[in-house]
Amino acid sequence: MVVVVPSKKSRILHRQPNAELPMAFMGDGPYIIDDNGKRYIDASGGAAVSCLGHSNTRVRQAIKDQVDNIAFAHTSFFTSKPAEDLADFLVEHSPQGLDYAYLVSGGSEAVESALKLARQYFIELGQDSRKYFIARRQSYHGNTLGALAVGGNLWRKQQFAPILVDTEHVSPCYAYRDQKSDESELDYGLRIANELEQRIESLGAKNVIAFVAEPIVGATSGVLTPVPGYFKRIREICDQHGILLILDEVMCGMGRTGSLFACEQEQVSADILCVAKGLGAGYQAIGAMLLSDKIYNTITDGSGFFQHGHTYQAHATACAAALAVQQEIQDNNLIDNVQNMGLKLQSALLSQFGNHPNIGDIRGRGLFWGIELVADRVTKKPLDPKLKVHSAIKTAAMNEGLICYPGGGTIDGKQGNHILLAPPFIINEKHVTEIVDKLARAIDTALVNCG
Ligand code: PLP
Repeated sequence: MVVVVPSKKSRILHRQPNAELPMAFMGDGPYIIDDNGKRYIDASGGAAVSCLGHSNTRVRQAIKDQVDNIAFAHTSFFTSKPAEDLADFLVEHSPQGLDYAYLVSGGSEAVESALKLARQYFIELGQDSRKYFIARRQSYHGNTLGALAVGGNLWRKQQFAPILVDTEHVSPCYAYRDQKSDESELDYGLRIANELEQRIESLGAKNVIAFVAEPIVGATSGVLTPVPGYFKRIREICDQHGILLILDEVMCGMGRTGSLFACEQEQVSADILCVAKGLGAGYQAIGAMLLSDKIYNTITDGSGFFQHGHTYQAHATACAAALAVQQEIQDNNLIDNVQNMGLKLQSALLSQFGNHPNIGDIRGRGLFWGIELVADRVTKKPLDPKLKVHSAIKTAAMNEGLICYPGGGTIDGKQGNHILLAPPFIINEKHVTEIVDKLARAIDTALVNCG
């Protein structure tokens, strides 16, 4: 007689409480192994987090060593060596002008800190009238209320709209959908960037705090890369009107796109720059906000107190892990591997999906790639949102032993579908082939299942 043991009901409020999740048991480089021994190749690093894979020896050792010394000391009383060393690393490698770091526990905290710091900066200067943030539709900046307010992802924010601060939104740089057929890339970038200037002028520059943007949009639209010149014009507009530029590199930063910071490829820097995911590679929860000395000095010469803080900020163990992650990336030239494997992934995606009837666009940089699914390649009509093709792809991919990050962003108020790929920086050509083969099968299965 076979005894069926009922599976234990989870007491966790999961994101999708009714979904059955496999139990992650152990890591092996780019693979996650569940408690049944099934192997999944992690082609999205979760959500662009696990840039070193799941079993890095150096990072594991750094965590153990730090815990053996001291796991945590509250930052009202102490600083710690790993926190100081991590701040040094970030500042020494950061784009021009970002001379200080503020260490937190994740991406939303980094963005939240940036919004508050930007507002406090102007208060210290006696410019209390500044209250507006301008951001972009088709963006995501985190799930805490401030970060959610500046984000443009309607699906994530709609039901909370009445309790969110008012934020202004302009168009994203989304050439696949918005560039006109008779317009050059350069002209398109300038036209879209100039929307920011028009919005600043209509709000009155003296009322605006900052423009917030992801240099490469991640979760909302499946990797939107900017056209050349767009961010240079954005930087110019911010400077001309005296507002701050906050760049959110929580997803696209820390080497993901083939340079340590994505904004380096646009030849711009920020007044405040947020990073997270790849910083600690998932080994510990950590994020950071980098800030200019102009802002730092205004606070230290003014009130001398940043009116913000979290219990776990600059957490010693998290900082030790992040430092080891970054040293591992540097010592093994993994950003070179991001560039090389990125090219292999690009060509494999193009040869596999370049003529697929339901794939409209393949875009990305480094090991950060997005595939936009459409009902019709010629008209670019999005797939019917009711079909939930992105969810079906996720399920089919998990069955194949592939982790990818499909999403349904909003395109002109309609739901679009995309898949985001962000594999670990340690992958080789065999992994690229495995990812693309499994993805092709998952997409075809999902499209058949969705009719
Ligand atoms: N900003 C961007 C660009 C993100 O992609 C995310 C998460 O996906 C966040 C902020 C929020 O980060 P976290 O989920 O660590 O709070």
